[in-house]
Amino acid sequence: MNLDEPNHIAALRDTIRRFVARELPREAVRKWDHDDEFPRAVFDKLAALGVTGSTIPESYGGTGRDIPATMATIEELARRSFPIAVAYINCACYGGMNILESGSEAQKRELLPRLARGEILFAYGLTEPDIGADLASVKTRATRRGDTVIVTGAKRFCTGADIADYVYLLANSDPAGARHKNLSLILVPPKSPGVTLRPIPTMGLRGFPSFDATFDAVEVPAANIVGGEAGWNQAWPMLAGPTLDVEKLEVAAIGIGIAAAAIDDAWEYAQTRVQFGKPVSSYQAIRHALADAKTRLHAARLMLRHASWLADRGEPCGVETSMTKLFVSETAKRIVLDCQTVMGAYGYATEFDLERHVRDVLLLPIIGGSSAIQRNNIANRLGLPR
Ligand SMILES: Cc1cc2nc3c(=O)[nH]c(=O)nc-3n(C[C@H](O)[C@H](O)[C@H](O)COP(=O)(O)OP(=O)(O)OC[C@H]3O[C@@H](n4cnc5c(N)ncnc54)[C@H](O)[C@@H]3O)c2cc1C
Repeated sequence: MNLDEPNHIAALRDTIRRFVARELPREAVRKWDHDDEFPRAVFDKLAALGVTGSTIPESYGGTGRDIPATMATIEELARRSFPIAVAYINCACYGGMNILESGSEAQKRELLPRLARGEILFAYGLTEPDIGADLASVKTRATRRGDTVIVTGAKRFCTGADIADYVYLLANSDPAGARHKNLSLILVPPKSPGVTLRPIPTMGLRGFPSFDATFDAVEVPAANIVGGEAGWNQAWPMLAGPTLDVEKLEVAAIGIGIAAAAIDDAWEYAQTRVQFGKPVSSYQAIRHALADAKTRLHAARLMLRHASWLADRGEPCGVETSMTKLFVSETAKRIVLDCQTVMGAYGYATEFDLERHVRDVLLLPIIGGSSAIQRNNIANRLGLPR
């Protein structure tokens, strides 16, 4: 593996950085966070750059499936705006990657070109009020009635459901069936009759809210079963397949973006804040904190680069992606908290971005499989006997 980033990814980063500077000024991002508002028009401009096609082959209207490019995009967006990065993921990854991997040919032909153009968004409907990590035990029911599927149940933390075109919903489709062979994924438009959304206020990711979504005998066509008829009761291999590996990397890429932004701010601040007649950057405690933060970020970047490279080549990478998700999300949290210390009171004031980075980064070890779940994966996959 060549550790240098290829030229096309360096060019992509440059494009996204210019987009961020133009469309996502700091003051606007801070206001959207404060007002809990999502700038959909900015996302539409992002989509117009063609970047939402980075998970989709050219034959379906994308720019070619390119995991390292997708991760670079997420990182650069998260460096300024967590909500815009998540909207990108909901489109390119939750939509594009899942439909490419698990959709029927008809679903690919219908949805992938629209996802590549950034016209439609997905939301994940996996978690339920009583179900967190143990997804195979979901209680939401999907029942067949001729050419329709009836969905009844409740999903929790369904992020972005208010602006999504489809909830990628996990349901139990055969209560008498064996565990892991009784689940289906259904595409449910959240505007369908019988769907109710209630926002769940959270400390971070403001502007892109999560919802309690209830489904009261919601009818969708059987064509909305992910994978078509062949996908009925086949959700588990779809969930545990290559998209799960990439999903872990998406969280890591967000962590690197947020940590890099925190370091940028603390690095700058340490040089301008003068105490006892000298910039605080001259004090060893501050210098070491920033040197450690840069070092940790570098290690995190290398882990993400390696795991993305493996995933892009379709190689088995369940251990590496879990290690990357675990290390990078925990490391990003540590980096951001250390940068907050460097900035003292100004790392706590809402007039500075660092306070938002603290609220946002705390989410990363929780979502996409918690740190404990990643540790379980690593120990199990490496064959550690119980
Ligand atoms: C802001 C936000 C957005 C979210 N967005 C979405 C979304 O869009 N779609 C969606 O479906 N979900 C979403 N989630 C839910 C998220 O994926 C959940 O956090 C996840 O499902 C785990 O559930 P839980 O946090 O309730 O933890 P639980 O699974 O209830 O676990 C509680 C604690 O026990 C630990 N634990 C659980 N099982 C084990 C085990 N076997 N071994 C060791 N430790 C264990 C966990 O690590 C955790 O510390 C979101 C959550 C938040 C906060």
